[in-house]
Amino acid sequence: QTPPDADAAIRQTDSDAALARLSAVQKRYLDDPFIRHLIPRAHLQPPRPPLINIGTYVRSEGIDALVDRWLALAEQESSQCQIVSLGAGSDTRFWRLATDPRKGCLRAYCELDFPAVTTKKAMAIRKSKELSAVLGSPDSVSLSHGGTALHAPTYHLLPADLRQPPADVLAPLASFLSPAVPTLLIFECVLVYMTPAASAALIQWFVDFFSPSPHAPSGTPCVLGAVVYEMFGLEDAFGRVMRANLQARNVTLVGAEPYPTRASLPTRFLQHGFTRAHALTLREIRRAYVAPQEQERIAALEMLDEIEELELVLDHYAITWGVKLACNPRELKAPW
Ligand code: SAM
Repeated sequence: QTPPDADAAIRQTDSDAALARLSAVQKRYLDDPFIRHLIPRAHLQPPRPPLINIGTYVRSEGIDALVDRWLALAEQESSQCQIVSLGAGSDTRFWRLATDPRKGCLRAYCELDFPAVTTKKAMAIRKSKELSAVLGSPDSVSLSHGGTALHAPTYHLLPADLRQPPADVLAPLASFLSPAVPTLLIFECVLVYMTPAASAALIQWFVDFFSPSPHAPSGTPCVLGAVVYEMFGLEDAFGRVMRANLQARNVTLVGAEPYPTRASLPTRFLQHGFTRAHALTLREIRRAYVAPQEQERIAALEMLDEIEELELVLDHYAITWGVKLACNPRELKAPW
């Protein structure tokens, strides 16, 4: 059983992630007009060091690229798609997608987090004209469960402790998701705070919900995609330093043992019968997947002295993605 103060430290990681994103936006690494509306006194927040800004940039662009590719794939398979973000915190992806005219196929976007985090987010959404306007007309948006949940025509914010049995905490999703519509799961920096058994149970709940039978009409390809962003390799010397830094802030990763390794990352999905899974470290993404023009633009934004430290840090974070097909892989029209 995790002590309650440990949960407070875990919830605090959301503020860290949001402030890092705000900093990367202020320093022009990223473009996100929505993040400042989710952070109190955003204009007074000091910027983060260049190393954090670059890490946030690579993480955000890497996941955005995968979400884009997945949306393209989903669009070819179906006229609609769904996204579920677990441990969503102050993420702005829904608002960025909903205001992008190319992303018309979104049927449902669900976010889950601890009730304290969803309450804060629901209040920030209610207070912000910019965030509310994207959700739909005011009378189509409502709070429920004592202000811990918020519902709009496409967007649903739900309270959940994801370490609890999925049959209980994920059950409300069944009202908002269709099991016959291609769906992407996003676990951005959340699985490291729970045991491997709890993470596996979460993923298995979705696999069961989206399995072709008995929900999907026969012949309907129901594509389940998943993206995980997480720390890994925490057993090596630098990994131990990272763990000590987290422990100094009371964030205990003890639940995530054994820590994922580079080799074990894709097994997160393959052990649940996913058709394919791949992983790239942030260092690999920065080196091989950021276009030369972008590399130049980023390099000109701030002076970075600690290149070696940057590479060591980026070497301990990875994005893993997988797809589970109901059809024969050869029938998949777009690559993933
Ligand atoms: N995904 C967001 C992002 O990348 O900006 C937030 C990441 S933050 C590092 C981790 C988030 O996971 C926090 O919002 C935290 O409250 C949430 N979280 C961690 N453990 C959780 C649990 N057991 N149940 C629900 N949410 C959890």
